[in-house]
Amino acid sequence: MTVSNLQSPIMQPISPAVQELQRLLGARNVLWQPDDLRVYSYDGSNNMATPDIVVLPETAKQISEIIKIARRYSMAIVPRGSGTGLCGAITPIAGGIMIAFARMKKIHHIDLENRTALVEPGVINLDVSTALAPYRYFYAPDPSSQAACSIGGNVANNSGGPHCLLYGVTANHVLGLEVVLEDGEILWLGGTAPDEQGYDLVAAFIGSEGTLGIITKILVRIMPLPEATRTLLAVFNTIEQASRTVSGVIGAGVIPAAIEMIDGTTIRAVEAAYNIGLPLDADAVLLIEVDGPKAGIDELQEMLADFCQEYGAREVRIAKNEQERADLWKARKTALGALGRLAPNYYIQDGVVPRSKLPYVLQQQDAIAKKYNVTIANVLHAGDGNLHPNILFDAREEGAYERVKQAGGEILKLCVDVGGTISGEHGVGLEKLDYMPLLFQQSDLDAQAKLRDAIAPTRILNPCKMLPQGSKCGEAARSKLPQAIAGNTEVWI
Ligand SMILES: Cc1cc2nc3c(=O)[nH]c(=O)nc-3n(C[C@H](O)[C@H](O)[C@H](O)COP(=O)(O)OP(=O)(O)OC[C@H]3O[C@@H](n4cnc5c(N)ncnc54)[C@H](O)[C@@H]3O)c2cc1C
Repeated sequence: MTVSNLQSPIMQPISPAVQELQRLLGARNVLWQPDDLRVYSYDGSNNMATPDIVVLPETAKQISEIIKIARRYSMAIVPRGSGTGLCGAITPIAGGIMIAFARMKKIHHIDLENRTALVEPGVINLDVSTALAPYRYFYAPDPSSQAACSIGGNVANNSGGPHCLLYGVTANHVLGLEVVLEDGEILWLGGTAPDEQGYDLVAAFIGSEGTLGIITKILVRIMPLPEATRTLLAVFNTIEQASRTVSGVIGAGVIPAAIEMIDGTTIRAVEAAYNIGLPLDADAVLLIEVDGPKAGIDELQEMLADFCQEYGAREVRIAKNEQERADLWKARKTALGALGRLAPNYYIQDGVVPRSKLPYVLQQQDAIAKKYNVTIANVLHAGDGNLHPNILFDAREEGAYERVKQAGGEILKLCVDVGGTISGEHGVGLEKLDYMPLLFQQSDLDAQAKLRDAIAPTRILNPCKMLPQGSKCGEAARSKLPQAIAGNTEVWI
């Protein structure tokens, strides 16, 4: 009996599926009481649905058996990393068995000579770089959630992060995968050869949001830490000046390791929460980092500072030591959490635009905010043209969630209209399903569905996610979808 079973006032009858799973994994690794399941109902978005069972396996072999049990009982399988996703990709809208990777956190090996590490999917992103630090190596993709999110979730979402401007996203750092398919077969895909023969199935699994198979081991590329790093904060009176600076810098041939932007609304939230010393009256700040060999880095830093001033920065601060650098990054990496100072809820979008269009799009976005009478706090991976407008709202206010969703939809449409896309890194999940047709024709979507059908034809793996059409999860499953908003309002659609 688990501790939570002892606390739970109402004992549920044990289903045959639970009994089989308990025999396979031991009772402590199978959660099925409502109180336990509720914890697994959320990700970082506003979606919510409860799985029927949560399992905590330790090996690929166990996962293979779990899938066979799920098939016998016609239950969906939903893989879950750390639950930090922002688009409802782990929301179990058809119920079923959720596979959580909290017990699969081993780093199997670090191979400096071949510059690889073999890790399990539940390993937290930052823990990889922490384990590599004594050797002066690191794992480059660094989502702002890196202290919490898992490598398995990163691979399934092809996650990005501030330093992906220079180093590339997760797809550029994954060499091989062990996966369990929906028939229980365990496969190894990819490897260290410069040119793997045959179809690139590793690429197909990266960004597949748990719909093709369960990832059980990941061979990642590791890199030596740069010899030197310089970090600047450029302060602007207008967001237009800041966004023109971004394309100006890159257009001049300089690719910093990161160019991040936060707007005035976000600055004020961060200051209220953490008191870092950001200028409260600024309309935007850019956080720019360069790294590389020591030789020449100070000149590069000066050049960037000059650029920022040319484009209208009223002040450029340079981090003088590691502590000051950490403080500047804290401003960026804690920005989403700090928004709680401004409103009980936010709805985050993840559109991408050609970076030269940033000034226009941010201006248009203002007009959308006015039209829907909403406040937007902007946090951008600006160098990549990746917008994160956070539309603030209070879910207790009737109709508020509907209004922010409409505003969010218009922002995504705007991104597509200027040649961009609907997601830079968070994925499609449930939230972007309706926007896929903005980007793809039916024939494009059909081609993607054929790939899914070739690898996972029964679609018990994370049903109703990523592809809008023919998801075979059924209207019944869709009608089970609750939209729960933090603040205890639950709206069933
Ligand atoms: C404050 C904050 C900041 C963020 N910043 C960034 C950012 O800078 N860049 C960015 O890209 N994202 C960011 N995110 C979003 C999120 O952290 C990433 O999408 C992350 O990769 C999700 O990892 P996770 O372990 O939480 O996965 P989950 O949310 O648990 O799952 C994500 C997807 O992966 C699938 N999955 C998980 N594990 C496996 C597995 N082993 N096999 C198959 N499928 C699996 C799930 O089914 C789901 O489809 C941020 C989120 C927050 C809350």
